[in-house]
Amino acid sequence: MSSDSVYSLDTEWIVSTRPERNKTDPLKPYDWFVEKELCFDRVVKNTGTIFLSNKECSFKCLMCDLWKNTLTGPTPSGAIPHQIESVLPYMKEAKQLKLYNSGSFFDEKSIPHQEYEEIASLVSRFETVIVEGHPSLINKRSLYFNDMLSGELEVAIGLETIHPEILRKLNKKMTVEDFSRAVDFLNNHKIRSRAFILLRPPFMNEEEGVYWAKRSIEFAFEKGVECCTVIPVRAGNGAMDLLMAKGEFSKPSLESLEEVLDFGISLRAGRVFADTWDLHLFSKCEACFDKRRSRLDKTNLNQEITQKVSCSC
Ligand code: SF4
Ligand SMILES: [Zn+2]
Repeated sequence: MSSDSVYSLDTEWIVSTRPERNKTDPLKPYDWFVEKELCFDRVVKNTGTIFLSNKECSFKCLMCDLWKNTLTGPTPSGAIPHQIESVLPYMKEAKQLKLYNSGSFFDEKSIPHQEYEEIASLVSRFETVIVEGHPSLINKRSLYFNDMLSGELEVAIGLETIHPEILRKLNKKMTVEDFSRAVDFLNNHKIRSRAFILLRPPFMNEEEGVYWAKRSIEFAFEKGVECCTVIPVRAGNGAMDLLMAKGEFSKPSLESLEEVLDFGISLRAGRVFADTWDLHLFSKCEACFDKRRSRLDKTNLNQEITQKVSCSC
């Protein structure tokens, strides 16, 4: 691990490194899809994900690229229910719904609380609704939304890493204690949480990346989350590309993702998923990529550790 960075790693520097933002329409989700996920009751069900277009997250984390599909000003009134309504007809088979907003669902400037009721009514047929939340924004507003839902609420929180120095450098303005407090708060109100864990954030070598991802999963489960999703860190947001050029960041390998997923599942403490979005970015071998991808997909769905893919690479 390098001792320190030559960059300020603050909000101003992170924002200054950004490439262009994508054109985002406040009346359309910027993406949506339906996929299978192993749900809390251990049944594989169709799960819809709607990527809502809304005001950019108030935090500016070093590794984040979600701002690319956000609005620069406050979300217009009525935009979020409109977006949800526009794609729900394509999700008739889904039992679980992720309303991901590239930030915190409970951020008032992204999703005004006056719209919770309409949103809750639109999604009333789902067994579970999953939203994202920064620990500092998990509060009474979360309970207010939970009370309106017919199904169960689950809140996904980016723990990222429990390495205190690296967590500070990620500019998330959050400590592991903040994370624990948020999980406690949710558990006390019978709301499930899942943790996003980074695999190999900047300033770590491959071995350290794997080590800290494993420790972070253990920590998240100890603190009471029910599910962990491991996210291999990628470049592409400006800051991460600069750090990569300076040797301060490298993408983790697919093998490391497999190792961390298997480890997390072996704890038998809750569901553990590998994020397979843009998975090809982490592959160094065409010959075994499809097999590795298929193994990860299966492991995500059945939470069974199977024989590793063997390849001459
Ligand atoms: S809190 Fe989440 S969405 Fe907001 S900048 Fe950080 S990683 Fe991105
Ligand atoms: Zn290979």
